[in-house]
Amino acid sequence: MHDHPTSLYDLTHDQLAALLNGWGYSAYHAGLVWEKLYQQRAQSPVEMGDLRPDLLARLQAHTVLNRLDTQLDTASSDGFARKFLLRLPDNQTIETVLMRFEGREGEARATACVSTQAGCAMGCVFCATGQMGFTRHLSPGEIVAQVLHVDGILQASGERLRNIVFMGMGEPLHNYEGVMTAVAILTDHKGLAIAPKHITLSTVGVVPGIIRMADEASPIRLAVSLHGATDAERQALVPPARRWPLAELMDACRYYLAQRKRRIFFEWTLIAGENDTPEQAHALGGLLQGMAAHVNLIPLNPTTGYGGEPSHSRAAKQFQAILARYDLPSTMRQRRGIDIAAGCGQLKAEGLTR
Ligand code: SAH
Ligand code: SF4
Repeated sequence: MHDHPTSLYDLTHDQLAALLNGWGYSAYHAGLVWEKLYQQRAQSPVEMGDLRPDLLARLQAHTVLNRLDTQLDTASSDGFARKFLLRLPDNQTIETVLMRFEGREGEARATACVSTQAGCAMGCVFCATGQMGFTRHLSPGEIVAQVLHVDGILQASGERLRNIVFMGMGEPLHNYEGVMTAVAILTDHKGLAIAPKHITLSTVGVVPGIIRMADEASPIRLAVSLHGATDAERQALVPPARRWPLAELMDACRYYLAQRKRRIFFEWTLIAGENDTPEQAHALGGLLQGMAAHVNLIPLNPTTGYGGEPSHSRAAKQFQAILARYDLPSTMRQRRGIDIAAGCGQLKAEGLTR
C-alpha cells in the first residue's frame, strides 16, 4: 500500500507525539518538532535542520508541511482589511481575511477571519458562500495554515495576531472535528498559544454542535447567527432554521450558557424592510431577554445572488434602541473591506474571474 504522507499541521501536539513515538522517539523530540513548527514557524523540513538527522529523514519521507499558496492578495481602500485567496493542495480555493480594529489605546488589534469549509451547505440567501454551494470540509491543517499565513504577514511588520474568528467561508459546526482539532493546535501553550477567549466560532445555529460544545466545555467563544426572531422570518433567510426551529435553538443556547457561564453573541444581518422592523426588534428582545447575550448587528453587505438592501441608519438605530429597552447590549458592526468583498458573507473564492 502506498504510504500517504501525513500533513504535520493536521496534528495536535499529542498526535505528533504519538506519531514520533511509533518511530521510537520520545516526547522530548516531539516537543522539539512542535517548537520548530509553531514557535520558529519553520516552513519546510529543511528549516528544521538542527533536529537529529535520522528524525529529519523520517519527517521528510513521511510528512509534508502544506502551506497555502497565495493566488490573490487584495487590500481594502479603507486600509482595515486585507483579503487572501489561498489555494489548497487539491486546487480548491478559499478566502482568509486579515482585519485590523482600533483598540481603546489606539493600537491596532489584528484579527484573522478564517474559513472552515470550501463553500457551504447551509444556503443562507444573502450569503455569497451559501450561494456557491458546498465543496468539502477543510482539514485541521488547512485551518491552521490560514492562521499561519496571516501570522506571517503580521510578523513581517512586527505585529502579533491576537484574535481568530471562524467567520469565513463555511459552517464551522458542520465541520466540528476539523475545527475543534484546529482549535487544540492553535491554543497549545507551547505553540501559537492563542488565548481561547480570543477565538470566536460563529454558527448558523447547528443545535447538536452547540450542545456538544457545551458538553465538551469548549473554551472558545460562541456566536449564533439569528437574523430572524420568529420561525417564519428566520426560515425565509436561513434554510437550516427549518431543521432547528427557534425554540430548539434557544434551548440549546440556554443549555450552553448554563454549562459554560459565558455570554453568547447573537448576530443579526440588518436587511431593509425585511428583518429591521420594530416588530422583529421586539420579538428579538423577547427571545433574548434575561439571557447573557450580546447582539452584533451587521448591515447587509452586497452579494450578486441577493437583491436586498442594507438597513437605513434610522431603522438600524431604532432597532438598537428597542433592544436597549430589553436590557440587551448591542454593537453595530463597522463596515470593513466592502470594496474588496471581504465583508461578512461576501467570501466566494471567485478569484481571477471577477
Ligand atoms: N457560517 C457561519 C459563519 C460565517 S458567516 C454563520 O453563518 O454564522 C459570518 C456572519 O456573516 C454570519 O452571521 C452571517 O449570517 C453573516 N452574513 C452572511 N452574509 C452576509 C451579508 N451578505 N451581509 C452581512 N452579513 C452576512
Ligand atoms: Fe453558510 Fe454562514 Fe453563509 Fe449561511 S451565512 S451560507 S451558514 S457561511
